[in-house]
Amino acid sequence: MSENLDFIREIVDTDVKNGKHGGKVITRFPPEPNGYIHIGHSKAICLDFGVAKEYNGICNLRFDDTNPTKESTEYMESIINDIKWLGFAPEERIYYASDYFEKMYECAVELIKKGLAYVCDLSADEWEKYRGDSTRPGIEPPGRQRSIEENLDLFTRMRNGEFEDGAMVLRARIDLSSPNIHMRDPALYRIRRAHHFRHGDKWCIYPMYDYAHPLEDAFEGVTHSLCTLEFEVHRPLYDWVLDALGYEVNNRPRQIEFSRLNITDTVMSKRKLLQLVTEKHVSNWDDPRMPTICGLRRRGVPAEAIRNFCAMVGITKVDGITDSAVLDYCTREVLNARCRRYLGVLDPLKVTITNYPEEGIADLDAVNNPEDPAAGSRKIPFGKTLYIEKSDFMVEPPKGYFRLAPGKEVRLRYGYFIKCEEYVTDANGEVIELKCTFDPATRGGNAPDGRKVKGTIHWVSADSAVEAEVRLYDKLFTVQAPGADGVDFLTQLNPDSLKVITGYLEPALGEIKPGESVQFERIGYFCCDPDSKDGKQVFNRTVTLKDSWKPGK
Ligand code: ATP
Ligand code: MG
Repeated sequence: MSENLDFIREIVDTDVKNGKHGGKVITRFPPEPNGYIHIGHSKAICLDFGVAKEYNGICNLRFDDTNPTKESTEYMESIINDIKWLGFAPEERIYYASDYFEKMYECAVELIKKGLAYVCDLSADEWEKYRGDSTRPGIEPPGRQRSIEENLDLFTRMRNGEFEDGAMVLRARIDLSSPNIHMRDPALYRIRRAHHFRHGDKWCIYPMYDYAHPLEDAFEGVTHSLCTLEFEVHRPLYDWVLDALGYEVNNRPRQIEFSRLNITDTVMSKRKLLQLVTEKHVSNWDDPRMPTICGLRRRGVPAEAIRNFCAMVGITKVDGITDSAVLDYCTREVLNARCRRYLGVLDPLKVTITNYPEEGIADLDAVNNPEDPAAGSRKIPFGKTLYIEKSDFMVEPPKGYFRLAPGKEVRLRYGYFIKCEEYVTDANGEVIELKCTFDPATRGGNAPDGRKVKGTIHWVSADSAVEAEVRLYDKLFTVQAPGADGVDFLTQLNPDSLKVITGYLEPALGEIKPGESVQFERIGYFCCDPDSKDGKQVFNRTVTLKDSWKPGK
């Protein structure tokens, strides 16, 4: 590792070169199992697991399960599964903050004994007043001068369940006039009778995040504790906890903050994602419109595209918002190299080939992926009745329209030249059928007489077409930053974010299995959905073919 290191890798690089921590690198990814992880988390995952890998270190997956009311096994399992899918190996080193509760409790007792923590029986509202704010220093709460013995007794009784939820907290004794509000005697433990998904009712007191996190890191020997910028103001407290418990500066975890990933056109707060699910604005956490990892997977976004996207966004301390078109670009890049091309018509217009010989013609040869010669070729059946896209025909074409029009000739992809001889309309004047002739000599797409056509359109033969459900996804919201400026994000949902239509697809698409991605030529990339069953295929549109963003733009 040398060139182009981001600032975090530079720090790690220097530490390794200087032999800090014996040259070891241990990172951790610490999700709270209170929801499904999303594309934002993947930035932290790629960084935590990535840095560890690059320096022959290790990365722990540590569940920050210190807030029992919102956590569950379902979330935990989904997180493990999603990280694996992203291409990392979390199952080798899984830890739980809750497994350290006993040790954390002992540390709290030690802090009390050192006079660095005390039991405070103010209610949360009262504490607000005592703590002060940016304009006023805090006031000493009653109980701050309690003896160590009394504090030890009260804390033991807190643990033993002698007090009501919220009746008291254990606080760090730091500095009531600190300009950093987080240093004004923050709570370390609270009383909460909640069933923990792993420890049941064993505990009725739970450690606060700011106290628990540095300890979890220290217990695991984490060297670099990487987190997002909002924790920067908490870092003095992180260090205070470790100082107070005697962890030496050069031999303990160092917290380093980087900017969160934000993407346009979506929300990433777990609370909002949960609301979208529970209020049924989407089908579930894995709805292909969701920015969750499982949603993106179902939509057909490859893990490699997500990793490339995170690498492209990079690691800095600058807060920003990334255009969702960048993720689409990364998705197309990967799918373009990987996907086989097929023909499918989504908005069909019937075409009758009037001079098609009744005895039939051999199937046509089609290249599976021009980007990948190893993908080979396949046969596509031709026929007397075809479907083409409605948009590939115009009665009165404007200048520069090279597709079909009365009297005009066009090339059918992998097929023949066809010429529109006549069009049929319904009572409303809408075109419902074209009558065309084909030129048998143009099989394969070229005319022996050298005549040229400018347009090539896709098609399927009506007799052999597979009818499939095609789900066309669009942005979930109509604005770039849903929920900004105090607007209710739900009022900004895009009513047209899902359109379900019937597609007419070449027969080979009937064989595609759920999870497989393909390109429908000229239309976009589609992923076969797990809802496909009993011979009925369902395809999700992952992305269209056209980029609205390119590198360097
Ligand atoms: P909350 O704490 O509100 O439940 P969270 O998004 O912080 O939500 P965690 O499970 O605590 O969820 O996150 C786990 C890790 O992922 C944290 O280290 C966090 O910094 C990181 N992370 C979460 N969201 C993003 C994001 N948008 N960009 C980068 N990292 C993120
Ligand atoms: Mg968090």
